Amino acid sequence: MEWAHVTYEDVASMAKEEVCIIPIGCLEPHAWHLPTGNDALIAHRWALMAAELEPVMVLPPLYYAYVKPGRHLPGAISLETDVLLPFLENVCDEVARNGFEKIILLNGHGGNTAILDVFRQHLSDRGKDYAVYFPPIFLMDDVIGEIRETADWGHACEIETSISLYLFPELCKMDRLPEGYFRSKKDFDIGPAKTSLDWFASHPETYIGDAHKASAEKGQRMTEAQIERLVAMIRKIKKDEKVLAKMREYQTF
Ligand SMILES: [Zn+2]
Repeated sequence: MEWAHVTYEDVASMAKEEVCIIPIGCLEPHAWHLPTGNDALIAHRWALMAAELEPVMVLPPLYYAYVKPGRHLPGAISLETDVLLPFLENVCDEVARNGFEKIILLNGHGGNTAILDVFRQHLSDRGKDYAVYFPPIFLMDDVIGEIRETADWGHACEIETSISLYLFPELCKMDRLPEGYFRSKKDFDIGPAKTSLDWFASHPETYIGDAHKASAEKGQRMTEAQIERLVAMIRKIKKDEKVLAKMREYQTF
C-alpha cells in the first residue's frame, strides 16, 4: 500500500500491520546513462514489489539525502548533515505517530550508508518509542557474484545498470555510454587510511567498470532474489517483539 495513494482511513487500517517502509535514495549523477534519482527509484520499486507479497505501508521515496561526493558534476542535491539528521528523525516520528512502530529505512544509495549509521545511533540517543530497521542495500550478494562479468562494480556499473534496465528501461540512455572499461583513477596511495576524496579521485565520472555488460535479464534475476529476501525480512520484523522491548529497557533518556 502506498501512503500517498490511499485515504486516511486506509493509512489507519494498514497501521495494524505495524510496518512502514521508507525508501531512501538521492539525487546525484549516475554516469551518462542513468537518471539522477536512480537509487530512490530502485528502493521505491523494490519496496512496492515486496508490498505486493506482504502487506506493508510504503512511504514516497526520500530523494533528498547525502551526496557530498558527486557535486563536481551537475545533478546532485545534498542535504547538510545538520539538516538531514533532524529531517529523517522528523519523518520517522511522524510515521510512528500514525501508528507504525516498526520502520524499515530501505536505502538504495551507498553514499547514505555512513550518515544512516550515525542516524541509527542518533535514534537510540534520542529515545524513541518505535524501532527503525536498517537493511543493507543488497540482500543478494551471492546472486551478484554469480552473474557479474566485470571485476569492478559499485556505481552506474554492470550491476546497478542491470537493475535499472529491468525496473525502468525508459529512463536508461544506453546509447550515451562510452566504450571502454573504467578502473579507479586514484593516483595516490595512503592506504589503509581513507580520505574524503577517495570516491572523487577514483571515479570522477561516477562510473565503474563496463555497463555494456548490463542486461534487464540480470536485473530481473537480482530483483527476484532481492524481493524474496526482503519479504522474508519484513516477515521477521513483523514477528519481532524483542527489539523495541530491549530499546525501552536499555534506553537511558
Ligand atoms: Zn546509484
